[in-house]
Amino acid sequence: MNNIKVYKKNNTNHEKSILVIGVVHGDEPQGEFLINEFLKSHKDSYFDEGKNNIVFIPRLNSENTRKNKNGVDLNRNFNTKNWELSDFDSDYYGGPSPQSEEETKLVSELLKENNFDAVITIHAPFRIVNYDCGEDCSVAPKLAQKIADYLDYPVQKDIGYPTPGSFGTYAGVERKIPTITIELSEDEDLKELLNKFKKIFNYLIFEF
Ligand SMILES: [Zn+2]
Repeated sequence: MNNIKVYKKNNTNHEKSILVIGVVHGDEPQGEFLINEFLKSHKDSYFDEGKNNIVFIPRLNSENTRKNKNGVDLNRNFNTKNWELSDFDSDYYGGPSPQSEEETKLVSELLKENNFDAVITIHAPFRIVNYDCGEDCSVAPKLAQKIADYLDYPVQKDIGYPTPGSFGTYAGVERKIPTITIELSEDEDLKELLNKFKKIFNYLIFEF
């Protein structure tokens, strides 16, 4: 059974579509709070007036641990060319096969059904905005910088270590969708973060 909540905030005549995913790793809970608080305080009519469509998944991983209920690191389970079988006991176990998990299947289906112009995932704790993109890498760095400015975080193109089966490689590098990975600081006050994310979400809905 798939209990993952997907909120599609669509309007007619939209210019772009954006996907925002929280809690890929279960022990990085901030994204669920930030997305749900934003959704609670805005009616559908608010999104109807936007320039762009936005799709929110507040919590992809139902567990409170890094890995999912099957012990799989979802950010190593995507069907990328560099996916690899790893040790089950590893924190980065990528599953028995690429996209073996319902969570990664759901995200890949969403990418197939929608022509997203950008996808954003919310992680912790590195206090950085990272981006992935294909050969035409004109949108992702600008969007990353915009988000980083709201957060007062630095931007980094590469996180600095190999991530086989990661969402950034799957969506950004291989499918050429501008892909932004926000790594929040764990020390930051959630209320203050929410104020910053209201600005980020509004930028995505009304300006991007
Ligand atoms: Zn993470």
